[in-house]
Amino acid sequence: NAIELDGVVKEYLSHGEVVQAVKGVTLDIAEGEFFSLLGPSGCGKTTTMRMIAGFEEPSRGVVRLHGADVTNVPPNKRDINMVFQSYALFPHMNVWDNVAFGLKQRRTPQEEIRRRVGEMLEIVDLAGREKRRPREMSGGQQQRVALARALVNRPRALLLDEPLGALDLKLRQAMQIELKRIQREVGITFVYVTHDQSEALTMSDRIAVMNDGLVEQLGGPREIYEKPASAFVAGFIGTSNLLTGVAAGGVLELGGGRVLVPGRDGEVTVTVRPEKITISLDKPDGEVSVVPGTVGEVVYLGTYNSYAVRLGDGTEVTVFQQNAHDATTTAERGDPVWLSWPAQHSY
Ligand code: ADP
Ligand code: MG
Repeated sequence: NAIELDGVVKEYLSHGEVVQAVKGVTLDIAEGEFFSLLGPSGCGKTTTMRMIAGFEEPSRGVVRLHGADVTNVPPNKRDINMVFQSYALFPHMNVWDNVAFGLKQRRTPQEEIRRRVGEMLEIVDLAGREKRRPREMSGGQQQRVALARALVNRPRALLLDEPLGALDLKLRQAMQIELKRIQREVGITFVYVTHDQSEALTMSDRIAVMNDGLVEQLGGPREIYEKPASAFVAGFIGTSNLLTGVAAGGVLELGGGRVLVPGRDGEVTVTVRPEKITISLDKPDGEVSVVPGTVGEVVYLGTYNSYAVRLGDGTEVTVFQQNAHDATTTAERGDPVWLSWPAQHSY
């Protein structure tokens, strides 16, 4: 494995009190993987990254890079580099000198500097802009200079802490694709920190969803989206409906309907994705969860409609229906409807 965290804890002393920023994180990141740490602000993502990079020492636990214990090894002795949201480019240097800076410091031969910087500017699509100063460039271009500067040293892993946070939405989406391409091209491990779930879902091979200093779930984007391991993950990733109640014999009675929760009894929280639910005017049969409700707001969103459906107990459920011309549903505001979904789509 490229990176391993084993029971890593980070405590800070704040106003005489011990604060645990990271409460015990264990994870493995494979060589060449695009791995994301995803979670809300304050959940411990940056602290985790800083321990991987060596800027912070863990209070407990072990950090391994490429099999070697580096828990107490300083950052400059780790074969790793980091890119931040604030690109921290040298404002008085042009693009070329910014990228070449690290190589010059290490007294790399002129010819090799020329070759490697040229190659890297090619990869980040900045060839021809060598003479520009940072302030003469857009945010996206500056971010690519920062990326080239980090990659030109050929680290075995690159850590990126919310690197696109300062860019507007359109540029951010373009850069997401760009980053993924660059990672494939250089073939090294990327560890990416973000609080933006769609960003993590689009780019990552695997994602660790963090909450309050802990990893709540670790898996591929599809697995995390379709099988959230907790109500927190379901709520944080995409749109989800949370239904709660007391189940008996694997069935949750809810507002005049029944939700299938195989193998579960007692207090349960069920999460169902809006796109897994079917709306029908007639009661469907078969081994499915079925609950009655009344259509409220209907929003037309192009390829699909979003329905807010109120259940008998007052719960509001969001349903997305594909807007095909052969749509079976023509439910409108105020219509009594049935919502149904297969048992395997509740968690
Ligand atoms: P994230 O990057 O997910 O937003 P951080 O890792 O920056 O989260 O912070 C996690 C928690 O640790 C926060 O509650 C933050 O206030 C606290 N924290 C981070 N750094 C320090 C520090 N140097 N001293 C005290 N508390 C800190
Ligand atoms: Mg942070």
